Amino acid sequence: MRGLMMDVPLLVSAVLRHAAETHGETEIVSRTVEGPIHRTTYAALHERSQRLAKALLALGLGQGGRVGTLAWNGYRHLEIYYAAGGAGLVCHTINPRLFPEQIAGIIRHAEDEILCADLTFLPLLAGLAGKLGAVRAIVVMTDRAHMPPPPEGLPPLLCYEELLAAQPPGFDWPALDENTACGLCYTSGTTGMPKGVLYSHRSCVLHALGCCLPDVFELSARSVIMPAVPMFHVNAWGTPYSAPMVGAKLVLPGPKLDGASLRELILSEGVTFSAGVPTVWMGLLDWLDAQGEIAGEIAGAQGGLGALRLVGIGGSACPPVVIERLAARGVTVRHAWGMTETSPVALTSAPQAKHEGLPPRERLALSARQGRPLYGVEFRVLGADGQPVARDGVAFGRLLVRGPWVAAAYHGLEDSPAHATEPGWFDTGDVATVDADGYVCIVDRTKDVIKSGGEWISSIELENIAVSHPAVQEAAAVARPDPKWGERPLLVLVRRPGVAVTAEEIRAHFHGRVARWCIPEDIRFAEELPHTATGKLLKSRIRELYAEAMQAAGN
Ligand code: ADP
Repeated sequence: MRGLMMDVPLLVSAVLRHAAETHGETEIVSRTVEGPIHRTTYAALHERSQRLAKALLALGLGQGGRVGTLAWNGYRHLEIYYAAGGAGLVCHTINPRLFPEQIAGIIRHAEDEILCADLTFLPLLAGLAGKLGAVRAIVVMTDRAHMPPPPEGLPPLLCYEELLAAQPPGFDWPALDENTACGLCYTSGTTGMPKGVLYSHRSCVLHALGCCLPDVFELSARSVIMPAVPMFHVNAWGTPYSAPMVGAKLVLPGPKLDGASLRELILSEGVTFSAGVPTVWMGLLDWLDAQGEIAGEIAGAQGGLGALRLVGIGGSACPPVVIERLAARGVTVRHAWGMTETSPVALTSAPQAKHEGLPPRERLALSARQGRPLYGVEFRVLGADGQPVARDGVAFGRLLVRGPWVAAAYHGLEDSPAHATEPGWFDTGDVATVDADGYVCIVDRTKDVIKSGGEWISSIELENIAVSHPAVQEAAAVARPDPKWGERPLLVLVRRPGVAVTAEEIRAHFHGRVARWCIPEDIRFAEELPHTATGKLLKSRIRELYAEAMQAAGN
């Protein structure tokens, strides 16, 4: 027997329409690449997205046509998300931090027909002249006054504001099938070639609904959300959809993610929730510390962070010391785990009622875990025998997930399931433990774990201990070949500016924090560490650099 309820498709256009009708006056504040702070509302965003949808269709894009974006977090980027998706096109967000050749390859692979670019990215595109495949026009996301001269060899440049101005208001969003694609994002290729994850209206709406559950990021119409995660990678953790869904004010920080710029917006806009990778928060905390040292006392309530109460941290493991430092400034950390293939949010580390009275050390240990799945995501941790591991927080295995916002296949590889070692499940490539309450702890990526004498050493654990030393700014632990043990850890450290520390002092810091045999004998210092396009440690390059150094030394 079928249920007798309305079959209304889950569409992103309906999310924006809801925000315009229910929270029409709520603000969207953007730091623009042109300079000034820009303010608009959900009502105005809806109206402009409707006109942009018509403008994009007028450029000759057919259903499913790809609109690439090279853009920071800002209101025009948000309009493209909704205009393209809502009109039955696909918004392909491109990570501008990838190598130029990779960017061109992705644009060609996605078969982008129109590219929308912030002014900052015109020089990047100029360098890709002749390599942009099917791209017919580049829409420069600015007004006439800021339009640059057309670079040589590129498709024609169109002015975003002129395209919009040419369209009369109003557009009936088509009643698409909810499984229609609306967004495309390529993995950043940390462990291989970038692969395209093709999100559907249904997956985006359900993921956003999941993110609106209170234990995820505590979002509501009273929230002021500032995504410090880019809209060009994994939909800024779904905030472009979850914020309008709940009617939260949205603060988009544009290209400036340094401590001073973020702090300015946090205070001036009353930000209550933000999300970002650990390095963003380390940058903000270091900046605040430096201000405190200069000024003696930090201005403003709550350790200098105004109304900020909660930050979501993920993308790579959040070191416990970052959780502690933010707590000291009145901010709670919600650790989150996810991937491009999981839209991304899948696990978050909210405490349960029974954890309320826990001593601070145990609370910290709990929030340092990546957490439990939000409704919609199921997971398994399978041992080497293919069976679920004991839920004891010690036994580890491969982390598999499934759910309506987990990728089933990659764009262009539709016939082969995405990483499916178990039918119907997505193999994340991460190694994890799970405890009796279902809190997952990511031990490492399969490719990064250090296999020493038949035992596994978690590179994440070594890095977390290293950065808890006050002299260490950043740390990377990688495996180096060892004739006796197979592999041993190599720890590469970046010291804080002007601070001296020796390898011996670092080793002493490890004693009592980790089993003796895990302590790295080989500790080196570097000026900086290589990072991926999403700000993660590029461990493959660190291993290569080490091998090159060994060779040069004649070892
Ligand atoms: P890429 O795989 O190219 O780095 P993603 O952004 O999709 O791109 O990265 C997903 C991976 O990032 C996960 O598989 C996991 O290894 C890592 N990751 C994400 N969040 C966390 C977290 N909170 N703790 C540890 N690792 C994380």
